[in-house]
Amino acid sequence: MSKLRTAVVLAKTRWGPRPRTRAALERYQQRRIRKHLRFLRARSPFYAHVYALTDAPVMDKAMMMAHFDRLNTVGVRRTDAEALALAAERSRDFAPMLDTIAVGLSSGTSGHRGLFLVSPADRDAWAGTVLAQTLPPGLTGHRIALFLRANNALYETVRSKLVDFRYYDLTVPITQHLADLAAYAPTILVAPPSVLRLLADAGHELGDLQRVYSVAEVLDPGEAETFATAFGQERLHQLYQCTEGFLAHTCARGVLHLNEQQVLIEPEWLDEDRFVPVVTDFSRRTQPIVRYRLNDVLVARRGRCACGSVLRAIERIEGRADDTLLLGGAVVFADLVSRAVIAADGFTEYRVVQTGPANLEVHLDDLSAAPAVRAELDALWQRLGIVAPSTEFLPYAADPAVKRRRVRRDWQGAEDAAV
Ligand SMILES: [Zn+2]
Repeated sequence: MSKLRTAVVLAKTRWGPRPRTRAALERYQQRRIRKHLRFLRARSPFYAHVYALTDAPVMDKAMMMAHFDRLNTVGVRRTDAEALALAAERSRDFAPMLDTIAVGLSSGTSGHRGLFLVSPADRDAWAGTVLAQTLPPGLTGHRIALFLRANNALYETVRSKLVDFRYYDLTVPITQHLADLAAYAPTILVAPPSVLRLLADAGHELGDLQRVYSVAEVLDPGEAETFATAFGQERLHQLYQCTEGFLAHTCARGVLHLNEQQVLIEPEWLDEDRFVPVVTDFSRRTQPIVRYRLNDVLVARRGRCACGSVLRAIERIEGRADDTLLLGGAVVFADLVSRAVIAADGFTEYRVVQTGPANLEVHLDDLSAAPAVRAELDALWQRLGIVAPSTEFLPYAADPAVKRRRVRRDWQGAEDAAV
């Protein structure tokens, strides 16, 4: 990685001129978009004739995967990237790379799996932006503990005098990380809410903590206050980061603001307050994110935030609300289950429901894929050291009420299950 490149983005974002008005922000965005489209016309066959953003189609995961080979700007073929990502997912022995390009697999919430390509330049820009937006005042000497699902090379970026990242792999039981975490004494902790809950319950002293960020999952009501108290913080911070980009972060007042200096977000309004974000990232070059519609629903915040930022404020993020499973006394994160399921082929829609202490239902829109899904799940249980639950395969029926939850636990179980 290039520390210099990361540092330049960090400095520009953190100390560069910030738009003082909404109009100035929009002018800045239009300038970045024009420049980005110029690059894409030259390098992405799919965007060869796109001169204005509105010429580009609104895109979702299925469309992005269908046009993968022509969309990306580095000539990577979907079949090659997919084969590599799946092999890495199954073995967990290596971070998948095609030459210098990192290949990521996303389970997402709709349809089948998605593939993402990230170049070193993309990654350094990402790291610079995240650091600029997240480091507390007094920039140096931070130790950042990151609890994340996929050991994607994306996250193993920055280790310098300025900051030190330590990555904690969530595919091994959390108990195995506790001693190391205490010794590392992070100043910043970044983890999904389900992990924050486990860490809070474990009651470890993390005396040097200056900030705690919730990422990747939606917070339940009241959780922010619970975690802030548990970790001795004034407030819990949030990062809204997904495969499609770094989309929002909390300001000093604890309010979520869209990351509109790096992405344009076109709202598709569902009602007066709620909208689906359509995202254009100005700087992701390898696999362009242009007018990409997310599955999340954002709730706009009324009025201006007291922090004075011109970036649009949001009340909360809805969606992506998968459950964790409790199997054999162990917590199994929804994302691990999703990833195992989508490693199999032959279906597009699925749902996994825990119905008892050792009972799962797997709903598939094509049951001929059941043996392949069963094999992937068995491999997961084995990796986690869990006795395979009794698993029943059923036809998938669309249920609008729960459409965003791919993995669900209907069985309540013992609340104090061991980690
Ligand atoms: Zn604010």
